[in-house]
Amino acid sequence: MSTHNQFTPKRTGFSPSQQVRHVSAIDLESLRQSGIRMLLIDFDNTLIARHEARPSAAVLAWLERARQAGIEAVVFSNNRSRRVSRIAGELRLRCFTGVGKPALSAYRTALDACGQTPATVVAIGDQVFRDIWGANRSGVHSILVEPLDRREFLPIRLIRPIERLVLASLRERQLRNVG
Ligand SMILES: [Mg+2]
Repeated sequence: MSTHNQFTPKRTGFSPSQQVRHVSAIDLESLRQSGIRMLLIDFDNTLIARHEARPSAAVLAWLERARQAGIEAVVFSNNRSRRVSRIAGELRLRCFTGVGKPALSAYRTALDACGQTPATVVAIGDQVFRDIWGANRSGVHSILVEPLDRREFLPIRLIRPIERLVLASLRERQLRNVG
């Protein structure tokens, strides 16, 4: 999937600005050039799978590249368990837990605390109805990744077929607009 021109125009509803398989496929240099200074990154199944003790080497290398590009990676999770803040601490990442995505207040709180505006932030996550919808409503660019692990909690597993339907219908509509 293309990593270029993903940020014009801004997306609305459930449609991500960009879609990639894994965070490591996100082109940090082009984000930097688009004025992006901060990434609000979902934790579970975006940065790390539930069975993993720490993020994979590919994720760690990508986080290091973000640091070198001058883009701050921030953990932004609905999960409020100690595991999230502990691992974020080990990675020396700023961390917001129990944020309540897709509520607008979740994004406002994080942006205010970090001194950013929607124009300088990209939100990254694996769930359309939380990560993407919340970001789009907040005017923050959104990148959808594939979940790291298919073995998910039942409520999330039930949502996945609906997500696929929504994404398929968005793709169809975009094709129709192009054609
Ligand atoms: Mg997630």
